[in-house]
Amino acid sequence: MEHPENNEAYKGLAVNKGVEQPSSVNPYLKRKPKKRRLSVSEFVEGILKGDVTVLSQAVTLVESVKPEHQEVAQEVIEKCLPYSGNSVRVGISGVPGAGKSTSIDVFGLHVLERGGKLAVLAIDPSSERSKGSILGDKTRMEKLSVHPKSFIRPSPSAGSLGGVARKTRETIVLCEAAGFDKIFVETVGVGQSETAVHSMVDFFLLIQLAGTGDELQGIKRGIMEMADGIVINKADGDNLERAKLAATQFRNALHLFPAPESGWTPRVLTYSGFYNIGIKEIWDMIDEFIRFVKENGYFEYRRNEQSKYWMYESINEHLRDSFYHNPKIESMLQEKERLVLNGGLTSFVAAKSLLDTYFDEMKR
Ligand code: GDP
Repeated sequence: MEHPENNEAYKGLAVNKGVEQPSSVNPYLKRKPKKRRLSVSEFVEGILKGDVTVLSQAVTLVESVKPEHQEVAQEVIEKCLPYSGNSVRVGISGVPGAGKSTSIDVFGLHVLERGGKLAVLAIDPSSERSKGSILGDKTRMEKLSVHPKSFIRPSPSAGSLGGVARKTRETIVLCEAAGFDKIFVETVGVGQSETAVHSMVDFFLLIQLAGTGDELQGIKRGIMEMADGIVINKADGDNLERAKLAATQFRNALHLFPAPESGWTPRVLTYSGFYNIGIKEIWDMIDEFIRFVKENGYFEYRRNEQSKYWMYESINEHLRDSFYHNPKIESMLQEKERLVLNGGLTSFVAAKSLLDTYFDEMKR
């Protein structure tokens, strides 16, 4: 067909016939075949060999929301499970600016000097909004990120805190199967995320700063109660005395809490991540704790309790997902909400009618 631009109306414009092009400028160039996804057994084999590239790819699958990825991921996790568990898992929490990245960098290097391999994971409930505010940028852990025995992974970003936390928990299994015998799970100190981290670690370390005046203000009691150790960072220069004072105040406050189930009395230490002071003492404390709780049976007990917790968490998450993604429920939800808001229905009646609909749908 004649090209419309060759029409009279387009006088002056003509479309010439193209010159035939050779199929490839470089006839010897071979296109790289598209990367094939590994099979479950290739994933497992790679992970067990400690291949970090394969581990990374497996973690990406764990984090994926695609059902076909999840299917493979769950199989890989299941096959890795018998090889997991043999590690020390440490949760590290502190408000933004407390010095988590700086501290984990030096602390991690110290731990690696003592041998073994270290994985640093994160749970950051805000990462969806801020695109990975913590650990998103590996350069924040400059030295650790280039260490051959370290594996640093930012927080999974998709989904609810529960979902994000579950993925991190599953990633721990993969890292352990890959031979990482120390796992740090970092979280920003904002409340609920600590509970999530606490439910997957053996030792919960709380990083604090000496403030101005009342140190304990604003620190939620629940978070302090979870801590197996509190460390006051930036104990350097002019700040040294204030950090020591803060430590004393924390020690006094801890006395007021009921004795922890572990039988361990939480310690309070001061250190400086920036100047690398007091780092060894922190790991010594964790080491001592692990020996202590392994001896009195609490280590096993806590891990079992955590497994139980995650079973129920998983059930809750799946039920919630299935409920809220049910098309019938989705179509009814807004209307029910409106009725509740304008007093047309009580919350309970609305909930019951939605649940009844859901269960009826499930029976079909
Ligand atoms: P994060 O937000 O908890 O990860 O905190 P960062 O590690 O990014 O540290 C926040 C700021 O505190 C940075 O400017 C660090 O240089 C500084 N900082 C971290 N550790 C120390 C320390 O031990 N002493 C002093 N004086 N400053 C520190």
